[in-house]
Amino acid sequence: MFQSMVSLMTVVALTLTGTTAYSHVLEGVYATVEKQQPSISVTPARTYPGDVILVRSKQPQTVTLFSRSYRLQPSSNEYARFIPIPFDVKPGDYNVQSADKKFTATLTILPKSFAVDKLTVSKQMNAMRQDTARINADQQKINAARASSRPTPYFSEPFTMPANGTLTTPYGYQRVVNGVPANRHAAIDIANKTGTPIWASNHGKVVLADSLYLTGNTIIIDHGLNVFSIYAHLSKLAVATGQEVKQGQVIGLMGTTGFSTGPHLHYGMLIGNTYVNPQPFFDASPFLWK
Ligand SMILES: [Zn+2]
Repeated sequence: MFQSMVSLMTVVALTLTGTTAYSHVLEGVYATVEKQQPSISVTPARTYPGDVILVRSKQPQTVTLFSRSYRLQPSSNEYARFIPIPFDVKPGDYNVQSADKKFTATLTILPKSFAVDKLTVSKQMNAMRQDTARINADQQKINAARASSRPTPYFSEPFTMPANGTLTTPYGYQRVVNGVPANRHAAIDIANKTGTPIWASNHGKVVLADSLYLTGNTIIIDHGLNVFSIYAHLSKLAVATGQEVKQGQVIGLMGTTGFSTGPHLHYGMLIGNTYVNPQPFFDASPFLWK
């Protein structure tokens, strides 16, 4: 939308400065705008494993990347789709191509190394991770919550930090629990005192507010366009499933419920079911990513 406003402003500016026949100038400008507007855009054009890109088009498109197809979704006078970049993708140049092969945009994946985070927990706590029945039950609830998303975004502004505190575990760390490699930490941990307020990182709708086994008291917010944020280990939930929330609204309090060694907020951002790096969402609104 921002881009089309810029284009329109260009048209107006050029029209005003034009001295020849009005319709002639306008025609020429429209032709130029049409030519300059790429039919698919990819932002950011340079990214990292574990990050996310936004593909947009003025026309309906299906695009392919990493041999997978993604249909752009109709969204406020354009078509858009967030695509997660897998952690294991090799650095290099990749093509984002429309299904009819008419349009191609280049995506550059830059190398990134992720640190190893060694964690020691009690035997009793470690045993929690073996209760697959309860973990699967959690997963089903989480998947159901993220099964659908509003096609139009609830947000236009950048996301904001969900709590005050110390960033104890950044995004992407390879976890080793009691000497055994575990899942990658695909979220950020913010530590502070129990009871510290937790804020919605952007406008959206609560699609899950529940007490889960591993993530404890958990909130998931749908921000539209398949973008979700997740807040885990809360001591108290202050919102209910189905409720719309505003950016900065208190949605709960920090705690250490579930698989957790101390009071902190585990904050993640997802595209559908895939965790992505939240940092680009804090740096700028995705619609202004460069
Ligand atoms: Zn965490």
